[in-house]
Amino acid sequence: MKFQCSACGLRINSRHFKQAGLMNPQLTSICDICIQSGEESADFANMAVAIFAQGLLYTFIGKNETTKDDEEAAFLVTKKDQRKRYEAFIQDYDGNELAQQQLKRTEFNQAIIDSETGKNDFLPKLELTFAENLEKMGLSVDFKLNEVDYIDRERIRAKYHYRCQYCGRRGRSVDHKDPVSLSHNNNLDNLILSCQECNRIKSNMPYELFVKLNSQIPQVNQKLVKYENALATLKGEFEQKRRELAAKMHLKGVVNDPELNQMRKQNKKLQDAIDSLDSDYNELRSLREQHFMTGWKLAQEKEKDDII
Ligand SMILES: [Zn+2]
Ligand SMILES: [Zn+2]
Repeated sequence: MKFQCSACGLRINSRHFKQAGLMNPQLTSICDICIQSGEESADFANMAVAIFAQGLLYTFIGKNETTKDDEEAAFLVTKKDQRKRYEAFIQDYDGNELAQQQLKRTEFNQAIIDSETGKNDFLPKLELTFAENLEKMGLSVDFKLNEVDYIDRERIRAKYHYRCQYCGRRGRSVDHKDPVSLSHNNNLDNLILSCQECNRIKSNMPYELFVKLNSQIPQVNQKLVKYENALATLKGEFEQKRRELAAKMHLKGVVNDPELNQMRKQNKKLQDAIDSLDSDYNELRSLREQHFMTGWKLAQEKEKDDII
């Protein structure tokens, strides 16, 4: 699903409008790129997003009323053909796992902002490849270095039963035991499956240390798996209820209705239960990450002593 950002005018995937909220997920009237550039969602209206949020129990962050000013306000990217070029480029990034692994979304967003504001005098071109556009935007992604073709990735995932080999949770990141930057080793036996979280933590420290620290906390990892399973079940149930609500809403053709409100109330309770479990889960995740970071810092300190 795509929404149009009320600030820049780009029509992009709804993921750009969704933010994790304290209780419910939030939908914003403007895209994450515009938010990063310093625009405030509270200053913009966005009827499409607001209706979607209301129907599906997301919190909407934006103006609720559209004024004449809003209607006459120009988008930051004024020309439609320019918007098309950014939209295609952003879609390329959203769909490219390799690019996302190597290039942080905030970095990518910043390059878009620099281009939109003229700081970088280049606009993505439709006739260029994604890689070429990235390069011209001043971004670098190495598509060859880390290249493991799709079949191999799927083979690795199947081999490890889609489970992170470090914590046991669901994992899809095929990565290198030895960092590519050190070994350039793309052999299948140097590839392992991990979850995004372990991958991120591991990338910041020596592999051997990561494995050692991880072996100290088997119970914590087991608990994480339990949390993940429980949350997946609850969220699945919630998604189903959400779909039922959307279908009913569509059928009735109204947003406000006693039966619909009753359904929303029940969904809200379920969402609260999920949020509470989620928060416990996140606390444990953050404790676990601290365990790794502390272990790493201590190891670095020890190394300093060794030198003296
Ligand atoms: Zn925007
Ligand atoms: Zn993991």
